[in-house]
Amino acid sequence: MRMRKKKWAEPYLDAHPEYALSDPRELKGQWKTFLKGKTLHVEIGTGKGDYLMEMSRMYPEDAWVGIEKEHNVAAIACRKMLEDETFSTENNRLIVADGANLEDWFEAGEIDVIHLNFSDPWPKKYTHKRRLSSESFLRIYEKLLSPEGCVRMKTDNQSLFEDSVLYFLQNGFTFTEFSVNFRRNEHPEDAITEYEKRFMELGQPIYLLKAVIDRSKKTED
Ligand code: SAM
Repeated sequence: MRMRKKKWAEPYLDAHPEYALSDPRELKGQWKTFLKGKTLHVEIGTGKGDYLMEMSRMYPEDAWVGIEKEHNVAAIACRKMLEDETFSTENNRLIVADGANLEDWFEAGEIDVIHLNFSDPWPKKYTHKRRLSSESFLRIYEKLLSPEGCVRMKTDNQSLFEDSVLYFLQNGFTFTEFSVNFRRNEHPEDAITEYEKRFMELGQPIYLLKAVIDRSKKTED
């Protein structure tokens, strides 16, 4: 998501360090207490924050953290959340940094659900390693997920989806949910992201998978 530099973005983020966190190492292992949530959800690549905001509203008993590395985009998300008087920030925060640093901020076994919504597809082969579902990321997720934890991925991109299915299977995950047309049916339990809305309007199918660590394989190994 490239956009022109917004002059107000950096000062806005700087003015709200309590909500738009840059390197929250002090919260490692403490997120559920801090956000008073029984289940911790982390969305990597939050974009302008629509999903995080809607899901925080729908599930106030859960804790929600969105990670966005582009400061211009994160500032839009941050402003939307802080300036909506009907929105409670009690159970949610933004981290404005690269999700590759996840291990600096979360303890092993701390995260219950990792959400990857319409992640950048990085179509050229030499850029595949930057994909948020690539092997190096899956190794980190495996460490940080709770025993029953999962990665939930939605995308419009068939090629990214097919490749990701392989990445998950090759790295010891298995699937508990799988759809090649998730929005064919109503899913009121799951908010529609900004990108998802665009693809739905174009009539494109939405691919979804929910991956958990395949414990049967782990004990066999
Ligand atoms: N999830 C949103 C949606 O569905 O509307 C935004 C999708 S947009 C295509 C992908 C977003 O992920 C961009 O805003 C990009 O900056 C962010 N992103 C990509 N790689 C990231 C990373 N390693 N860490 C944090 N954010 C990342």
